[in-house]
Amino acid sequence: MPKAVGIDLGTTNSVIAVMEGGRPEVIVNAEGARTTPSVVAYKGDERLVGQIARRQAALNPQATLFEVKRFIGRRWDEVSEEAARSPFKVKEGPGGSVRIEVGGKDVAPEQVSAEVLRKLVSDASAKLGEKIKDVVITVPAYFDNSQREATRQAGEIAGLNVLRVINEPTAAALAYGLERKGNETVLVFDLGGGTFDVTILELGDGVFEVKSTSGDTHLGGADFDQRIVNWLSDEFKKEHNFDLRKDPQALQRLIEAAEKAKIELSNASDTTISLPFITFDPETRTPLHLERTLSRAKFEELTGDLLKRVREPVQRALSDAKLDASKIDEVILVGGSTRIPAVKRIVKELTGKEPNESVNPDEAVALGAAVQAGIIQGDSSLGDIVLVDVTPLTMGVEVKGGMIAPMITRNTTVPAKKTEIYTTAENNQPGVEINVLQGERPMAADNKSLGRFKLEGIPPMRAGQPQIEVTFDIDANGILHVTAKEKTSGKEASIRIENTTTLDKGDVDRMVREAEQNAEADRQRREKVEKRNALDSLRVQALQQIEENEGAGQGAKDKLKAAADAAEEAIRQDDDSKIADAQKALEEELRTFMTAAQSQQAAPQGSEGAAGTRAEDDVIDADFKPAE
Ligand code: ADP
Ligand code: MG
Repeated sequence: MPKAVGIDLGTTNSVIAVMEGGRPEVIVNAEGARTTPSVVAYKGDERLVGQIARRQAALNPQATLFEVKRFIGRRWDEVSEEAARSPFKVKEGPGGSVRIEVGGKDVAPEQVSAEVLRKLVSDASAKLGEKIKDVVITVPAYFDNSQREATRQAGEIAGLNVLRVINEPTAAALAYGLERKGNETVLVFDLGGGTFDVTILELGDGVFEVKSTSGDTHLGGADFDQRIVNWLSDEFKKEHNFDLRKDPQALQRLIEAAEKAKIELSNASDTTISLPFITFDPETRTPLHLERTLSRAKFEELTGDLLKRVREPVQRALSDAKLDASKIDEVILVGGSTRIPAVKRIVKELTGKEPNESVNPDEAVALGAAVQAGIIQGDSSLGDIVLVDVTPLTMGVEVKGGMIAPMITRNTTVPAKKTEIYTTAENNQPGVEINVLQGERPMAADNKSLGRFKLEGIPPMRAGQPQIEVTFDIDANGILHVTAKEKTSGKEASIRIENTTTLDKGDVDRMVREAEQNAEADRQRREKVEKRNALDSLRVQALQQIEENEGAGQGAKDKLKAAADAAEEAIRQDDDSKIADAQKALEEELRTFMTAAQSQQAAPQGSEGAAGTRAEDDVIDADFKPAE
């Protein structure tokens, strides 16, 4: 059976890992890197994924999609503000969903994430020498139902079998705890590129029990970058009366420079941001340059409120776990943004602990996902590991007066199942609409609606008489299924929660097909390019040979040159069959020419053997051929 892998599908970077001899190991990608930027670029019909996409971002800002995880499974009204800051076009899609307009087409965030997954898995399959199909994908613990469901669908679109969706901090704890023996209480603090998660777990005897989880899905390293971008743009505007944020190319360069400056400030106390030719003066059309020095102190001032925002989730996680900070044994830092010195300082201040640095903040999540994949596949080297996770947010139904009646409260262990009886508010009410909600606020309208469904055909009864049994069932992925049943009539209705932003089955099927076709088209395109390149390098080689073998007869040279020119023309015309013909013809001419040239070289070296004679024959033969 091919191995199942674990994938950390990050906002910024993704990592894939597999169990090897009882230990999780990161699998390097085709470029030889351990992390793959979660960036997808569209160039004509072609898609570039990873570092190669990231590298061309500044030249192709509208079609280079990054941090798409911020949009996956979300409603347009939740993300419109973030969308406005994006160099690419994010807009409202069907049913209040989010779509990205790229190359004249609308793509769903799930499709973009599927491209990242596809690259990770196909590179890993090549490395492992077997076709990988089964995967465990991680999500921020604080992802709600639709974000989880959308992530699972991204896996499906990539042609994968998603065994499980697990929480990133839980995965990190698995990686950390694999080799720990005693009982301990651990706080995982994960600040990545776009999201923030805090999870408190108890570890001991192979049991990993999540006590509480909290976070902020709108907080990450990109927000820190954004502060620098705004500062630079504001300063630039003061000076030149031009807003760089309005120019997509300048904006993309600013974002990259801001991130670089931020990373440098993790080690240095100041850094210089230098962007020559950032734009043109709108009046004089002379080029404008940007150059600024940013100190760590100024950076901390610019990001002060972001730093404050990590406090509340940590405190909430502690209070939900009914723990005082002093009861935390270890603090594990995960995510690139925990390298920011001010972040480390705050963690220490909040927990009173020096963070444990034994896990690699970039890899822990994927390693833990690989462990989980191993557990599901029954990898015997792992022994008995039990993972007990929780649901991050309260789920309930809307009841009379626009209130929410909680069914399963946050931090309940999953899988979880709960049944409650509801009834009607009016006499002879023929049906009820069940609005399924997720969130912590008392009024339904302030929470996220995961979906609505109707239970109809209730026989006429007085208000309060029908017994409507509603069951909430959260699976191990944290995904909710809801059923409702009227007991006197036996009428039943159920949904797997698919709210308006989640793709329906038809959409997913179509996207799976598209993705497969795209992958096939990409393969063909690559093959075509490879053929062109092969012919072109053969052409160059032929010309070199003509130059290097001065002694070859003019006729032979002309003939090879003619074949090389024909190759050039075939490449120019970009015609597959002409390219194939030209390749064959040129190979043959070159072989003839080389054989002749080699024998000719051999001849003057004194050997008057058969080879010399034959060479002469060949040359003469070739020489006279065109004249025939
Ligand atoms: P994600 O889980 O969102 O994919 P990562 O954990 O890979 O993200 O973290 C990416 C974020 O970490 C980016 O915002 C990046 O700029 C930031 N980052 C990486 N290295 C450093 C560093 N040395 N100092 C500060 N921030 C860093
Ligand atoms: Mg991460």
